[in-house]
Amino acid sequence: MKKEKYQSFGVDLSNVRNVWESKVIKYMNEVLPEFPEFDYCAICIQDVYALAMNQLTPKYVQQGTVLLKKEYVDHDFKDIIEEAVEKVLKNPNHP
Ligand SMILES: [Zn+2]
Repeated sequence: MKKEKYQSFGVDLSNVRNVWESKVIKYMNEVLPEFPEFDYCAICIQDVYALAMNQLTPKYVQQGTVLLKKEYVDHDFKDIIEEAVEKVLKNPNHP
């Protein structure tokens, strides 16, 4: 990713992130070991991440913005990630 693509009028926008990114990554680290058949290759890990992220309505914030706890309650991250892992296991993007 070229950094200049994430600028508008000289202002860097690459630090405006979808808040679910770090949550999904954190929960992936917990959920993936529950699946002994998961292969931990880059393609499958990226697929799980993309599938899970696509289940969540994006919420973009400037770095350092504090999210209220109630903004998280609608999402059961574990369920979303478990579903994504099951999809990838059934239909991996590689032989
Ligand atoms: Zn794989």
